Amino acid sequence: MPRTGQKSLTVSEKVFEEIMQERQKLSTSSKTDVGLNMFLEYLLNLHREWSKKMPRLSKFGLYDDKVGIFDSKKRQIIEVRIVDGELRCPACESDECIHIGFALSLDEVRKLMLAGEIKKPKIATL
Ligand SMILES: [Zn+2]
Repeated sequence: MPRTGQKSLTVSEKVFEEIMQERQKLSTSSKTDVGLNMFLEYLLNLHREWSKKMPRLSKFGLYDDKVGIFDSKKRQIIEVRIVDGELRCPACESDECIHIGFALSLDEVRKLMLAGEIKKPKIATL
């Protein structure tokens, strides 16, 4: 049970291990033990600063049949989905929005397209 004024958070083991590794690296470089709470605050600050300077769209990650794109204007992660070999953006309910265009510019997506796992887009300019 979390203590008063605290909340517990459940993350996957993979995410947990990565967080702990990064925290350990920071503890080693700053020569003080960085608590998990402090580390998460540090990540939040980093994210706030980063999102002010970052371009409109950036790659967040590729997983399963989704392409995660961070949209700094909407301040959210857009999950472009691969449905029947076509890219679909649930945020815009479209297959030809800027998120699709950005997804198509990513090397990983291009490789899937060359492998025939994703159909070539209808938009000729891409
Ligand atoms: Zn979109």
